[in-house]
Amino acid sequence: MKHKIIIALLLLAAPAIAQVRKEIRFPDPPGYKVLKCDFHMHTVFSDGLVWPTVRVDEAWREGLDAIAITDHVEYRPHKEDVVGNHNRPYELAEGLARHRGILLVRGVEITRDTPPGHFNVLFTQDNQPLDIKDFYEVFERAAAQKTFIMWNHPGWQGPDRGRWGEEQTRLLEKRQLHAIEICNGEEYYGDAHRMAMERGLWLMGSSDIHEPAPTDGQKAAGHRTMTLVLAKEKSLPALREALDAGRTIVWYCDRLIGREPQLKAVFDACLRVESLHPLQAKTTYVKLTNQCDNDIELERSEPGQPRKITIPAQASVMVRLSGPDGQPADKVTYKVSNFLMGVDQPLIVEIAIPKPASQPAAAAAR
Ligand code: ZN
Repeated sequence: MKHKIIIALLLLAAPAIAQVRKEIRFPDPPGYKVLKCDFHMHTVFSDGLVWPTVRVDEAWREGLDAIAITDHVEYRPHKEDVVGNHNRPYELAEGLARHRGILLVRGVEITRDTPPGHFNVLFTQDNQPLDIKDFYEVFERAAAQKTFIMWNHPGWQGPDRGRWGEEQTRLLEKRQLHAIEICNGEEYYGDAHRMAMERGLWLMGSSDIHEPAPTDGQKAAGHRTMTLVLAKEKSLPALREALDAGRTIVWYCDRLIGREPQLKAVFDACLRVESLHPLQAKTTYVKLTNQCDNDIELERSEPGQPRKITIPAQASVMVRLSGPDGQPADKVTYKVSNFLMGVDQPLIVEIAIPKPASQPAAAAAR
């Protein structure tokens, strides 16, 4: 009897088994929500190793807002054991995604030898009609479903085989290509980034995960490679509107890669600047707070001090700033070396220095 009571007490004391979601923190710029998205992942329905609902659980635990399960149409090594058409992964995951508040985008990966390579077709209504041999007809059918199409991992089989080809030109001319995956897993493709900027294609980054998450690469980076989408709200239509407008930023290792307006908006939302009371005359002390989950690396782009400032994620630093002539400054210009708006082209920001707020003691004396 005594044992039974002890066991009962132990059971009562045991913590409830709870799922833990690690929120990803990027403050929302005015008018937008920063949606954390991964539009490229695999399940046992192609060459992945997990069931579709597992991808939803992983996404929830890792703080994502939207995902697409994009199994290969043409490559299904488990097809004798895992039977089901190309819509099954979406159908199996849909209910859990709704329950967990994850936006689930229906999609597939069109898989051809490189070149021309692999393409994710997102926002499909029915994946079955895309299972055909004729390459261009696949995209005609995808376009008829008003889909969003990205060219995947162009650098995967080397820069030569990942070169822009006549297929890409033809798809672009027909508006059947909208984006390029410039980061895939732990790889960044500078050539693809350059192509995207030259040809006006939107920037995407994704995990292309095949094994259970997190992978060793994701653990080393601290997060999975993803696309931050600046949407007007968290909904599938708003997500689609934002993708069509190209409001994307790739979050890859410790870097954010995007176009200038979006990077600037996110930078402004992340950085808080406060002036501190000077210890001596003619000095400007500021507290710089980084409110996002990525470090901010600043490098001075004009004379003045300090030359470099690192503001760690979710932390503040106190710095003594001087203008080009060594005098106090009311604004300073820095390059953000890990916020890239082009290949090797950092975002440039002007940081306004506010006047120090009155100290309570001084206010009371007045
Ligand atoms: Zn893939």
